[in-house]
Amino acid sequence: MADLKILVPVKRVVDFNVKVRVKADGSGVDLANVKMSMNPFDEIAIEEAVRLREAGVASEVIAVSCGLVACQETLRTAMAIGADRAILVESDADLQPLAVAKLIQAVAAKEQPQIVIFGKQAIDDDANQTGQMFAALMGWPQATFASKVVVANGMATVTREIDGGAETLEMKLPAVITTDLRLNEPRYATLPNIMKAKKKQLDTYKPADLGVDVTPRLTTLKVSDPPKRSAGVMVADVKELVAKLKNEAKVI
Ligand code: AMP
Repeated sequence: MADLKILVPVKRVVDFNVKVRVKADGSGVDLANVKMSMNPFDEIAIEEAVRLREAGVASEVIAVSCGLVACQETLRTAMAIGADRAILVESDADLQPLAVAKLIQAVAAKEQPQIVIFGKQAIDDDANQTGQMFAALMGWPQATFASKVVVANGMATVTREIDGGAETLEMKLPAVITTDLRLNEPRYATLPNIMKAKKKQLDTYKPADLGVDVTPRLTTLKVSDPPKRSAGVMVADVKELVAKLKNEAKVI
């Protein structure tokens, strides 16, 4: 399809290798001097969109990120993987899933994509809401947790990861897809492509330009570390182990 645009929302999150620290007052996670990267599921979404363009199914891939100016870096990475251009919706507000869904809705109204590919969830808030909320706002069909996507003749056929198996759905475009881990393995951005990405178009809007109210609807009351595990006990032999399992743990 010659003029099929794919929009891919990408979030800047704490890098998945970083062991996060909860702030002393329990108000959230300490982001000072922490490495930030593209949400891993969104890298998979960009890769899938770029593959569809390379296969001649799509004509353009547009990455969009909502958040701080630093999200430009995330968008450059998306363009180094192969997105054609990018849009930053710049805001230093705490952007919750409904606000992001509305911002993406406003961007979709301008860009008229046929497919929007979200990550299934952001690894910082683990909300797993934004793609679904966007689909509802648009009144579009959605296939979440995709592990295979085939687009042809104005339809998307999507295999979804479900408990203990897979399910294959067919839906008419325009539609929403959210990515699961096994959909693809994103390519590394090569140096020449990183250089090329610096020259690609990046437009910036503010939420007010898009007429979206991003006021938070939720208040975080407390964030806490998982409970610490207590130290184990060394036993001398199997006899002692069995006795402990019987008398103390009462599991046998
Ligand atoms: P969530 O609902 O927060 O778990 O996020 C699900 C997906 O929504 C992510 O994988 C992204 O594709 C998209 N998303 C969430 N927040 C943002 C954001 N601030 N900017 C762009 N995309 C986002």
